[in-house]
Amino acid sequence: MTTLENAELRVAGVIEESIVDGPGLRFVLFLQGCRTHCPGCQNPQTWDFEGGELVSAQEVLNRIQGDPLVHGVTFSGGEPFEQAAALIPLAAELRRRGYHLTAFSGYTFEQLREKPDCRQLLSLLDLLVDGPFLMAQKSLELRFRGSRNQRILDVQASIAQGWIPILDPLNAESER
Ligand code: SF4
Repeated sequence: MTTLENAELRVAGVIEESIVDGPGLRFVLFLQGCRTHCPGCQNPQTWDFEGGELVSAQEVLNRIQGDPLVHGVTFSGGEPFEQAAALIPLAAELRRRGYHLTAFSGYTFEQLREKPDCRQLLSLLDLLVDGPFLMAQKSLELRFRGSRNQRILDVQASIAQGWIPILDPLNAESER
């Protein structure tokens, strides 16, 4: 069983304080490894599943907790859901401590909820920015996103209602 004590994450890097990867001031954890390979991806160095470095989930938690100004955490990549099983104990502990949790994924919400580990990780999140980066739909006007196909989803509402309410004003381009 994967626990906070034994979970290891393959990490591409971190940003200790960010205001562009979700609401408020956030710690951003970039997970290493991605199979989606979107043309035009800004982080192709995060694709290799053998790259980055192995870091214990407990160490990540300690770093996050070390900054009292941070109240949110973002899982980005790479593809965070490729490491869903190892992220679950960290996300659960962060949620228990009141952190707002956002994740970016090249997969859609509908794809993620088909896989048990991904579904469990989803259940711990507040926001999901979903879908691959599509160069043909690229826009610099979008908040938190690179292309128009990507959505900012209220994960808890989407799970509770069984469908995705596309009502979040964060999705509007003018909200940037
Ligand atoms: S899903 Fe994200 S990290 Fe992966 S190729 Fe697409 S933009 Fe890059």
